[in-house]
Amino acid sequence: MLVLSCRNRFGVSSFIMLAVVMSPAGAPAISVADEPQADAAPLQATEKEALRGVLTREQQAAYTPQKALDDLLAGNRRFVADDLTQRNHSQRVREAYEGQFPKAVILSCLDSRIPVEDVFDLGIGDIFVARVAGNFVNEDILGSMEFGCRVAGAKVIMVIGHTSCGAVRAAIDDVKLGNITPMLAKIRPAIEKGSPFDGKKGSDNPAYVAHVCRENVRLAVETIRERSEILRTMEAEGSIKIVGAYYDLRSGEVTPLP
Ligand SMILES: [Zn+2]
Repeated sequence: MLVLSCRNRFGVSSFIMLAVVMSPAGAPAISVADEPQADAAPLQATEKEALRGVLTREQQAAYTPQKALDDLLAGNRRFVADDLTQRNHSQRVREAYEGQFPKAVILSCLDSRIPVEDVFDLGIGDIFVARVAGNFVNEDILGSMEFGCRVAGAKVIMVIGHTSCGAVRAAIDDVKLGNITPMLAKIRPAIEKGSPFDGKKGSDNPAYVAHVCRENVRLAVETIRERSEILRTMEAEGSIKIVGAYYDLRSGEVTPLP
């Protein structure tokens, strides 16, 4: 059980409890690599210093959705370059106590090899993170996203799938085991309703696994727009962006999906 405690911009304390379950299968080192992006330009000292502090209400309000997305991807390039910002976590805990003004909501797989804050070179108070094996969307996740954006002011929703996802591979294999069975059923639409795939459809075919992982992200983004009037409206008004992305376990790189 993951518990997120938060205080919104109206001063109301809120709690979001997200139940997560263990990943059903190990994941061998197989992947389809994307083209690496250009190296990030080194940050100036003042830019580095700004990254060390907790986001304020004014900083959050000044973000456009595009700027928030650009910042996430720039942080990922620093992660890939092993140029993470050094932060004083104890100081950040104290600074963030009175409120939080995160720039994004990230939905990630449970996979332990994707430390989400690190992946974007971020820290306490910077992003909301929801995690479930297979990074699918359900009512609770949608409610969490609506809280993150409509109530707490985040500017981007990003769904991140990843190479060689064990949950996706288990769904392809139609694994039956305890509560894992209904969980995998929520990934099955990516297999049954995804775009056509030319080639062997099995969990032993890395190209097919990558195809289903990407379809799973695409369907999650579609589901957010279909099932959340609040988020659909916010996106149409230009107050948030909803994007899918793909994480490469070999390189640490996050690539937005078209
Ligand atoms: Zn996974």
